[in-house]
Amino acid sequence: MEVIIDYFKNIPSSHRSLILVGGITFFWLLESTLPLFKFKYIKWKHAIPNFFFTLTTIIINFLLAFILLSTSDWVIANNFGIINWLPEMPLWLYVFLGVLLLDFFSAYLAHYVEHKVNLLWMVHLVHHTDHNVDTTTANRHHPIESVIRFVFTLIGVFIVGAPIGIIMLYQSISVVASQFNHANIKLPVAIDKLLSYIIVSPDMHKIHHHYRLPYTDSNYGNIFSIWDRLLGTYKYIPREKIVYGVDVFFDEEENAKVSNLLTQPFQKYKRPTINPNE
Ligand SMILES: [Zn+2]
Repeated sequence: MEVIIDYFKNIPSSHRSLILVGGITFFWLLESTLPLFKFKYIKWKHAIPNFFFTLTTIIINFLLAFILLSTSDWVIANNFGIINWLPEMPLWLYVFLGVLLLDFFSAYLAHYVEHKVNLLWMVHLVHHTDHNVDTTTANRHHPIESVIRFVFTLIGVFIVGAPIGIIMLYQSISVVASQFNHANIKLPVAIDKLLSYIIVSPDMHKIHHHYRLPYTDSNYGNIFSIWDRLLGTYKYIPREKIVYGVDVFFDEEENAKVSNLLTQPFQKYKRPTINPNE
């Protein structure tokens, strides 16, 4: 465990990029052999806006990384934060708790707030207006959302008291987990269900991308499913009932244009509606 943490403490940017690109490539290939839905799309064309937003996310995180680093240095120097206040524990448990709690603040909480605050929902909308959810959807985040998520990560690092090794490990797992749960892949239903008791399975997250409420406002987690199950936001519908997108923003052509997506946060506020029959 020490070796792992040491590696992530000094992980080169090239290795981080390799994890991102490697993950997309792996799930992209898997999607061709094991697709959940047979989309009538040109995979590359669909990926263009998503890759654009992946790039802006990388740039924003790169530019702000020094704030993350100095916050982490400060909490460790001052022995601050939840995992440092707990009694002495084995390293593996310290690391596990760090990743688990960062997953709460940086992913679950950020995502939950984005759905509940009207202004933030319009920013997060860009992620939900993909009509063909696949592994490239994972980082389809408006640049403003990348900043919002960065702020939540910062708050998380501060409250959790995470050293940089745990933050980098968490972020690497988080990237791959997101690519996995967005991937257009079909696991056997029983396996998917079983997985969803521990981690966010592909079916579990796809339900979050259903086009109408109450499902849009459920299953906010990214790595661990415990947060949704514990906090009452877990919901289930069978995979065949899932329709992607947001019912009040259903112009597929507009939703595939980078120029439209960039201005989506400034469009008139609209929430998805509830279908009483669901
Ligand atoms: Zn969402």
